[in-house]
Amino acid sequence: MAEVYEGEELIAGVRKTAEVIRERGPALVLTGAGISIDSGIPPFRGPGGLWEKYDVEEYGHIEVMRRNPEKAWIMLREMLETILKAKPNPAHLALADMEKAGFISYTVTQNVDGLHEAAGSKRVVKFHGEGGKLYCMKCGRTRKLTGPEDIDPIRCECGGYFRPDFVFFGEPIPPNALYTSFTEAEKTGVILVIGTSAQVYPAAQLPYEVKRHGGVVVEINPAIGPLTSTITDIMLKGSSTTILPKLRDELIGR
Ligand SMILES: [Zn+2]
Repeated sequence: MAEVYEGEELIAGVRKTAEVIRERGPALVLTGAGISIDSGIPPFRGPGGLWEKYDVEEYGHIEVMRRNPEKAWIMLREMLETILKAKPNPAHLALADMEKAGFISYTVTQNVDGLHEAAGSKRVVKFHGEGGKLYCMKCGRTRKLTGPEDIDPIRCECGGYFRPDFVFFGEPIPPNALYTSFTEAEKTGVILVIGTSAQVYPAAQLPYEVKRHGGVVVEINPAIGPLTSTITDIMLKGSSTTILPKLRDELIGR
C-alpha cells in the first residue's frame, strides 16, 4: 500500500518525491486526461464529456471515419474546437520547467491536446497522436491547426476527407511511441503517473515496467485508484495543477 499524502501532509510528500527524483531520476512521466481538466478539457467520460452526447467508440472508430467521414466529423469538430481553444495550465508548465532542468526524461501522454508541447516540453511521447494536425486520407496532404477557425474545410482539394493525426478506435498505438516509452521505463528509477488511473494498455504497463526493476512509482491524482493499492509507492492526493508547481519549486527553487 502506498504512502498517501494529502492536505497539510502534502508538502512532506512533495519533498520526498523531489528527493527520489534527485536520487533516481530523471523521471519518466505518464499523463492522462486529468492533467488537462483545468485547461477546460473535460475527460471523455466525465461531466460535460463527449460520452454524454456520443457513443465515442462508435463515432471515433476508424471504420466510421473511412466509410462515413461526415458522421465522424460531427464529434471530431466538437472535440477539436475544445482542444484548440485550450491553453496549458500550471501543471503542464511545471513539467516543462522540470524537463528543461533535467529532472524529466520523457513525458508520455495519452492526451491528444498538444498542451505539453504548448507549455514548452520537448520530449513528448504521444500514445494517441495529436489533434493539432490534419491529413487528407486520399492524397496525404497535411494541414496544421492553430485555432478552432482553422478546422474548415474538412475536405481536401483532391476530394478526399481530412482526418486528425490521432489514433482512432480500431487503430494501433504508433510503434515508435511504444518503443521509446518502454525503453525509458526499463532505464528510469522513478515514474510519475499524473491525472490517469493507468488502466488501459499500453499506459497500464509502464508503471509495472518501472516497478519490476526496483523503480519507484509516484502517483499524483485527486482520488485513490487501483494503482494506489497495488504498486504505487508515494501517492500525492490532490490536483496536479497545485501539486506540480510545488514539486518544481522544490526541485528548481522559486
Ligand atoms: Zn487530398
